[in-house]
Amino acid sequence: MVLFHVMALPATKHDLSPMMQRYLEYKERYPDAILFFQVGDFYELFFDDAVAVSKALNLTLTSRDKNAANPIPMCGVPVSVLDGYVDRLLPLGFSVAVVSQSGSGSGVDRALERFVTPGMRLFNSISSDVAESLIAAVGIDASGSMASIACTDPQTGIISVRDSLELGIIPRELANLMVREVVLPRAAFGDKVDRRTGWVRSIEGAVSKAAMRFRGEPAGPTELERGLGTDAAAELHAMSVSAKRAVRSLLSYLDEISLGNPVPVRELSLFRSAGSVIIDAATRRNLELVQNTKDGSAAGTLFGFLNETVTPGGARLLRNWILTPLIDVGQIRDRQAALKEVMPGARGVLKSLEGLSDLERLTARIQLSVGSPKDLGAVRDTLERLPQLRQILSEAGSKLLASCVSALTPPPGVCELLQRALVDSPPHVLHDGGVIREGYDVQLDEIRGIRATADAWREQFEAQERQGSGISSLKVKSNNVIGFFIEVPTSQGSKVPANYIRRQSTANAERFTTPELKKHEDAVITAVDRQIKREQELFVALRAEIAKSVEVLRHVARGIAVADTIAALAVVAEGNAWVEPEVTEDPVLEIERGRHPIVAALLEGAFIPNSVAFLGDGPTCFLVTGPNMGGKSTYLRQTALIALLAQIGSFVPAERAKVGIIDRVFARLGAADDLHEGESTFMVEMREAAHILSHATRRSLVLIDELGRGTATSDGLSLAQAILERLALEVKCRTLFATHYHELTGLAGSCKEIENLSVGSVEREDTVIFTHEIQAGPAPRSYGLEVAKLSGLPAEVIARAFEVLASLPGAGTKQTVIKKPVQQPDLFAPRPSPADAVALKLKERIESLNLEDLSAREALSLLYELKELGAAARVPAPVR
Ligand code: ADP
Repeated sequence: MVLFHVMALPATKHDLSPMMQRYLEYKERYPDAILFFQVGDFYELFFDDAVAVSKALNLTLTSRDKNAANPIPMCGVPVSVLDGYVDRLLPLGFSVAVVSQSGSGSGVDRALERFVTPGMRLFNSISSDVAESLIAAVGIDASGSMASIACTDPQTGIISVRDSLELGIIPRELANLMVREVVLPRAAFGDKVDRRTGWVRSIEGAVSKAAMRFRGEPAGPTELERGLGTDAAAELHAMSVSAKRAVRSLLSYLDEISLGNPVPVRELSLFRSAGSVIIDAATRRNLELVQNTKDGSAAGTLFGFLNETVTPGGARLLRNWILTPLIDVGQIRDRQAALKEVMPGARGVLKSLEGLSDLERLTARIQLSVGSPKDLGAVRDTLERLPQLRQILSEAGSKLLASCVSALTPPPGVCELLQRALVDSPPHVLHDGGVIREGYDVQLDEIRGIRATADAWREQFEAQERQGSGISSLKVKSNNVIGFFIEVPTSQGSKVPANYIRRQSTANAERFTTPELKKHEDAVITAVDRQIKREQELFVALRAEIAKSVEVLRHVARGIAVADTIAALAVVAEGNAWVEPEVTEDPVLEIERGRHPIVAALLEGAFIPNSVAFLGDGPTCFLVTGPNMGGKSTYLRQTALIALLAQIGSFVPAERAKVGIIDRVFARLGAADDLHEGESTFMVEMREAAHILSHATRRSLVLIDELGRGTATSDGLSLAQAILERLALEVKCRTLFATHYHELTGLAGSCKEIENLSVGSVEREDTVIFTHEIQAGPAPRSYGLEVAKLSGLPAEVIARAFEVLASLPGAGTKQTVIKKPVQQPDLFAPRPSPADAVALKLKERIESLNLEDLSAREALSLLYELKELGAAARVPAPVR
């Protein structure tokens, strides 16, 4: 059995140095986290942490005590670059604990400096991250068949629950939610977690392995639950057993990772998807909405394209709008109205928002009592800019912008209080003081007065000692190591008065103290201590005072984010000559001369616009045929993107668009990228098709590309036809179905719901040129071999393939048309000859080729394979 978290720890701690023993104490406290342990100028990692991190971040793995029987694996990073490494580990799912060192020599002490998990980054000093940080917990009911998911972004204080789902769909739901880390009930695995369990493996596919935490389920109501508001507690009471377990397990995990700062939960609600379009994980990936398939970044995605926002909150909101487009026509029109209104001055609005801090994140940090002096300073600077922002938006008449303007009202007195209390640029940390402005507190000013007179005293003391000793180069200085001292150049050593007490020698000078100086030093130290203590008291009280206004601050943050997002959408719409779509409840989707936003921007003027016409009373299903590389998948994707953009409230890349509300969108294009061990492409494809058939409604948009690959042609064709028929005749959702099976084009003649489209191509001499134009009617043929020619496949192979094609049954005649659903093969039909069988095999093999993915080496082995296939028949030319 393979177990998690088996650390290669030594059998007995006593064999280890005191430092390593201390290390292990911390490791026991934070077993899930990667522990960065400061040793001098480095943060060191030991044991499994060192192995995992050296692999993940490409660090050199060394070992401690190289000559020992069991050297300890080790790697390290310089103290100054720690933040960069932490930032890289979080997206991989790791939690990080940082134990830092203070003091030196034998007086060295270490303490936990921060603890950050992928979902709980409020305790980190790093800057913003656009994505939401969702933490989820799964609860399973007593029967072990039903489960619930509770999830939260700790920044918002809202827990939402998906109650009573079948256990099998939990991995998919977690992927859909894009959770950063997940807590799973250890009890469900008999206390030992076996990674080979299919369920665990599929969760690993949805959330990274490093982000899975296994915990015992809390037995009953926890302390934390009592901290829930009355409404939230009532909600919880009404939920199922598995939901209660999920919520409790989430609360207890939040408690564990928040280091004694209880995460406030304002609201507990059942997840309702009724308010937005449902977009599953596969569709999100296929359409590259927020992450590209290449490196997972936002480059080349819809979010990357639209993101003209200038504040972190704006970027987060835009991302959220893209992932949850609206389904309420009224709300969409509100956004459209705001966008139109802001358009002429959109750049000015963005300019006025530039450089604003992440007020939502700052507010959450203040509420958790971890807000730093710098954080409070950032709140003040943001609030100071609100009047100017309100001024810019003051003329707004649209509902959404008007609500922004009213949201931009700062909580009364907060800005003034912060202005009075804080210095202009407050420091990051509180422990050195220098936070509170003069004139804010009488007591603090008095203490500071003592320090000021101390400076004057030092100058006067220096003059007095110079005169007394006759050493004109004598100086009175101080440092953190020996405190105050009199410094005399070595060359003047003979003049040093007898009452001087030597403290230290440096290369060119001697350092002394005197009883008078010592007394002064004590007084100053006391004053510094008192000042810092007083500043700390004042700051903590100030933060608590500001924390009373968190609700209003959140509201302001939301106002800023909405203004930013709307202005960004307006800038994109104007810059790309997009149009305002008409949004309606009717089941239509009419796009005139639509463009794929990203491909069109890349190709500039070379992009060929295409139209879509689901008119409501006409066909619901378009079958798109045409050569590879013709532009089929671009056409499918742009259609979905335009519909989604419309429901986000954005303008769209087209000359005219009318979009009937879509409740779910399914896009299955390109290679299935969520293959799990032991599952073939074909199996995944069929599972996806089953998912679509059971979830698509009349109001859904379905895009399918090349269904039925990875199996014999006849099987693939039969399945594709059956699925297409089901979508067109029963579900009746708007469907674009791109296929290589030309046989399917015949369905259009017998089914009024289905119509043919094809991507244009022009045959010139013996090559084919794609026009990328979508036109009515089926493609004359597939041009597979012509496209193959462009791929660099050897000419002889192509020539042979043409020969084979010509010899196949039905070659040269019109494509077979299957008018009725595919039936069982006729067992009494004459058996095909061996040569026929070979020809069929060759045809199937050639059809199954994906030439774009073929490397030179694969092409060569393909050549051998084709030759072998041909040789098997011992007949040079197949019998016609
Ligand atoms: P298919 O799905 O038919 O194999 P794709 O949609 O992947 O084809 O398109 C192949 C390439 O053709 C794209 O990378 C793009 O550069 C180009 N292309 C697609 N659609 C258009 C278009 N409408 N105008 C111009 N070029 C296009």
